[in-house]
Amino acid sequence: MAHSHDETPMVTTTNAPVPPPLPARTTASRAVVMRRRSCCVSVATWDRLFDDAYRADVSIQTSSHDVIYAHSSILGLASPVFRTMFKRQNRSKRLFIVPILGVPSEAVRVFIRFLYSSCYDENQMEEHVLSLLVLSHSYMVPRLKRECEAQLEHKYMNIDNAIDVFQLALLCDAPRLTIMCHRLILKNLKAACLSDGWKAMKESHPILEKELLETAAVEANRQKEKLKRANERKVYVQLYEAMEALVHICRDGCRTIGPHDKAFDKHQEPCKYEACKGLESLVRHFAGCKLRVPGGCVLCKRMWQLLELHSRICIDSNVCRVPLCRNFKDRAKRLKKKDDIKWRLLVRKILRTKSITGAPYFSLAASF
Ligand SMILES: [Zn+2]
Ligand SMILES: [Zn+2]
Ligand SMILES: [Zn+2]
Repeated sequence: MAHSHDETPMVTTTNAPVPPPLPARTTASRAVVMRRRSCCVSVATWDRLFDDAYRADVSIQTSSHDVIYAHSSILGLASPVFRTMFKRQNRSKRLFIVPILGVPSEAVRVFIRFLYSSCYDENQMEEHVLSLLVLSHSYMVPRLKRECEAQLEHKYMNIDNAIDVFQLALLCDAPRLTIMCHRLILKNLKAACLSDGWKAMKESHPILEKELLETAAVEANRQKEKLKRANERKVYVQLYEAMEALVHICRDGCRTIGPHDKAFDKHQEPCKYEACKGLESLVRHFAGCKLRVPGGCVLCKRMWQLLELHSRICIDSNVCRVPLCRNFKDRAKRLKKKDDIKWRLLVRKILRTKSITGAPYFSLAASF
């Protein structure tokens, strides 16, 4: 393969123009992704050295019986694995023979080219990124490995190839990629299970499949717990607000519901307590219900509970205007220890939830 530019500049400055694309390539532009800035020979020259194989002394045998010629000095410089390999081989032979099998020969070509010029074609990267990850790991070429990891993470990893990427990331000791992949799989477990990669993993690495399913179950549980806690918290906040509204209704009289023991002022603004609206119908019902006994009507039962809860939170029943506040306080003293603990726990949770959200503790004393 020959270059269209015979006069490739041998010396470049940092302002040197980007080398022209190789003539043998498709119309897609060759992305010069990485370049040795300190190098004084242009990327095109490195490419040419590789393409022309001038005085090459390495013969790389690939899976499809393709032979790629290269230079031991370049390969040895770029990879300690090649360096050791060449040291061991008999120098008297004209060519070092290096088999690189198990990946497509085109991937090997892209890999070796990268060792020359630190560049790759984006289309080829997309096609061979997994092979390049394996090769860069096996031959200890960290720059290419990092590039493959980044490309996979940001561009080429998807739910269809996630299982393959995950296994390779584990194999190639790429912890960040492993984590990103793991997250993607857990997030889309159903789709991942249907992928070909999953089916293959089931056959070849059943333990890995088991581990993935186990972590997925743990994660699902964690999410469920989180949702449960959030819902509980919502209930506690609502209860706290209901307690505030109850005091407000009994103390101030509510414009929406009707004043407790004050003259109704038509010009008064409607109530701004959110919880008042919810309590309004409950209070109205409670006032008129004929079944007003604990355990009777569901709505009344709820009202009883709210009144009891209020009494638990109320600081001074002597001045409190909420009905039955004192009665419940007296009743609490006679309550079984087990029931008493239940109430105390609820009160603590309500007050703590509200204090976490930034609002002050329930302060009835201050409002009387
Ligand atoms: Zn109100
Ligand atoms: Zn009722
Ligand atoms: Zn009270």
